[in-house]
Order: sequence, then C-alpha cells, then structure tokens
Amino acid sequence: MSLNPKRTVSELKELRALTSDEHGAQRLAWTDTWLHAREWYAKKLAELPVEHHYDAAGNNWATLKGASEKCLLIGGHLDSVPNGGWLDGALNVLAALEVLLRFASEFNGRPPATVRVVDWADEEGARFGRSLLGSSAFAGTQSISADRDRTDRDGIKLEDALRRCGVEIDRFPEATKERKNAAAYLELHIEQGPVLERLELPLGVVLGTKGVERHNITFHGQEAHSGSTPMNVRRDALAAAAKLALEIRNIARKHPDAVCTMGSVKTFPGIVTAVVGRCEVTLDQRDLDPRILAQMYREAQEASYRFAEEEKCTVEWSRLWNIEPIAFHPDLLDLCEQSVREVSGTSHRMPSGPLHDAAEVSRAAIPTVMMFVQSLRGISHNKIEDTREDHLELSVTALDCLASKTADWILRRA
Ligand SMILES: [Zn+2]
Repeated sequence: MSLNPKRTVSELKELRALTSDEHGAQRLAWTDTWLHAREWYAKKLAELPVEHHYDAAGNNWATLKGASEKCLLIGGHLDSVPNGGWLDGALNVLAALEVLLRFASEFNGRPPATVRVVDWADEEGARFGRSLLGSSAFAGTQSISADRDRTDRDGIKLEDALRRCGVEIDRFPEATKERKNAAAYLELHIEQGPVLERLELPLGVVLGTKGVERHNITFHGQEAHSGSTPMNVRRDALAAAAKLALEIRNIARKHPDAVCTMGSVKTFPGIVTAVVGRCEVTLDQRDLDPRILAQMYREAQEASYRFAEEEKCTVEWSRLWNIEPIAFHPDLLDLCEQSVREVSGTSHRMPSGPLHDAAEVSRAAIPTVMMFVQSLRGISHNKIEDTREDHLELSVTALDCLASKTADWILRRA
C-alpha cells in the first residue's frame, strides 16, 4: 500500500459532512461537535498499528514506533472557527495521517525513525480568545494563571469547559513531556491568503511566522469651537493622526513583506462643531525580520512625534501586544524547497502573516518548517474557503516527500 492522497481528500469530505452545517464547519474547540470530530478520528487510529493517547493539555498523539527513538512530528488541528472552512487545520492532520500510513506500510510497521502525528487542542482560540492553547502547553510557553479565568460569550470559564472534556488546566505543564526525543516538526497548511494563487503556484515554502507590534497611540490637542477658532491657531489631534495613517504606508512599503495597519480611529469629543482635542488610533505592524520590525516601530514613533509637533499636539504610545518573529529551521527550509520542487516543478519562499502551532513548536527549540498549499480567492475562516482538489493531492505528496527527507535528516544528525 503506497501513499493515497485521494483518500485524504475523501476523508476531508467525510469530516465536513459530519461536522458542518449550512454555515460551514462547526468544530469549535471544547464543544460536542469538536469531540465528535475527535471520536471519528480516534476510530480511524484504532484500526492502525499506532499507540494513541491524549496528553495533559488535550493534544491527541498517534505514534508509530521506529527503529530509532528520535521522533519526526507532523501536526495540525481538527478544531475550527465557528462557520469555518473545511480545510483549515483538518488538511494538516489527515495528510499527516496518510504520511504515517505510508511509513507503516513501506517499513512493515517499523520505520527507521519514530513518526508521530499530533492533533493540537484549540489552535483557533475562537471561543476563549486564546489561540495556540495546546501547542503552547507543549512548548511550555502557556501561562495558566492568565488563561484559567477566560470566559466565553455565555460566561462559561475556560477552566470549566476544559474539565468537561477531561482536561485539567493545572496539569498543563505535563504536556511538555511529549517533547521527549522530538527531532523535527512539519506542518502543512492552506495559505489563507492570495499570494500563491496570484503566482499560479500550488505550493509554497513557509520561511516563518511574522512578528507583531501592536500599539495604542493617543494624540492630545485642544478641543475648540469649529466656527470661532482660526485655522492657524488650532491644535487638531485628528490632523496629526491622519498624517501618521498615511505615513505608515511609506514605512511598510520600504520592505517587500512588511505590513502596517491603522485599524481603529476614535475622535473626542467627536462632534461636528468641535476641533478634535484627542484622537486615539491603533497600529499593527508585522514582519518576519526582527530588525525590520524594530525599525518600522521606531520610524512610526519618530513620525508620530514629528506630526504631533507640526500640529502643536502631544502624543503617547502604549503597547497592546507583541510577539517576536519565528524563523523556521534553515536545513528544513532547504528540504521543504526540494520537496516542493520535486512535486510541482517550481518553488516559492514566503512568510506567514497568521500564527500557527508550528510557531509554538519552534519556540520550544524543535527544528520546524511549514508548507503552504494555495487557497482559492485567498479566503479562509469562512465556509467558502477552498482549494483545488488536484492541489490538495499534490500537497499530500509533497508533505510525504518532505517527511521522508526529514526522517533521513534526523537520523544523519543523531
Ligand atoms: Zn489553521
């Protein structure tokens, strides 16, 4: 029995039929539909020559023991956002399972390296606003005290929702045990953006996940009457903010993959007859290179001070959130590029704007790489999320090729 990518596509359809309604996929983590998806998946595992268990954070591990204890990990997530697509996360898990089956049959149940497939718990964070929950417990970067009291829209506490699914948040640190012998981690994912479709490429090599700087910026001027205040004496906080809104585009455009977004503007008093005395805006900046991210942050700050001065205002910054860029492993990037090239004839390297479980695994110092497959219309987190079936099949073949190369790489390093 060799690799059967068509089986992955038909399993994805089976899962869609089982866990979607007319609005899309409903595999929201810690709900009955998600548990139902996991039961369906566990039944598949039960028929295979694998050891299978849930770790202390609810991550689902299937292990095919190899001659070496060194482990090749391949992962994804069965959970979805509400009204989600059929591929986000599920493709990763089911393609990984197909690869594991190929290893099992090729090597009579005992491949040279151990192969483990993981279905991470709660990648999306859609219910409690905490993404990458299971993989961060694995990586040891999760903070129980900050997450315990999170509540969903109905006021149910995260701690209680997890307990209902047999997971005790206080035991989360035990999930780090699963890192034992982990030598590499691979993840296939739909791109969720328009880049590969525009380039007419089925597959891409993911360089890493972009770092994020997210800030609140407040300009202070002087509220004044719109009729009696001459233009040359105004201290207009909105004017300063507006200059910054345009300048961040110049700041981002100096770098090919950088993005800067001013997503919110609030004016006070916010009435038609007053010059704006206070203007609050938000800024979100992203890039894969930490130096570029730091430079963009610095340039935006300097610009804000300059514009504040020009408009006789003052400005203050407060950080909302930030995360460092995660660059994937250079050797694995090369192996991924070779695999994509072998399967599709050409290759393209690109960063990921969204975060993924792979970022948490990489933070745990496990060599990591991701592969993207083209998304139609660049749409995800939506029931119209889609990818051509021949591209899905190609992605399973490419992941399999990468898994073989990575297993060899692990054993060469051991
Ligand atoms: Zn995903």
